[in-house]
Amino acid sequence: MKKPLKIELAPGVMDAVPEEDREELMAAIKEAFADFDPADPPGVPIVWIESGVTECPRCGALLNEPHAVSMPDKHLVYDCTGCDGVFAHPVQ
Ligand SMILES: [Zn+2]
Repeated sequence: MKKPLKIELAPGVMDAVPEEDREELMAAIKEAFADFDPADPPGVPIVWIESGVTECPRCGALLNEPHAVSMPDKHLVYDCTGCDGVFAHPVQ
C-alpha cells in the first residue's frame, strides 16, 4: 500500500504566492513528487562537497564554474566536466 504523501515546505516559501494560488501550487508539488522513490530519486543526485573544492570527487576532473541556486538556502552548484556529477555546497 502506498503511504500518503506528506510534504513540508520551508517556512516562508508560500509567502510569495497569492493565497488563492497556494492550493493549486501544493497540488502541483504533490504531483511532482507522487512517483518519488526515496531509494531511487529522479534526476541526478547532488553530492555535497566542501567549499573550495575544484576537482570532482568522483572522477578527478575539474568542476565547472559554480552557479548559485536557491533551494531555499543559497547553494553554489558545480557541474563536473568529466562525468555527469552535480556537486554543491551552501554559500557561506
Ligand atoms: Zn566527475
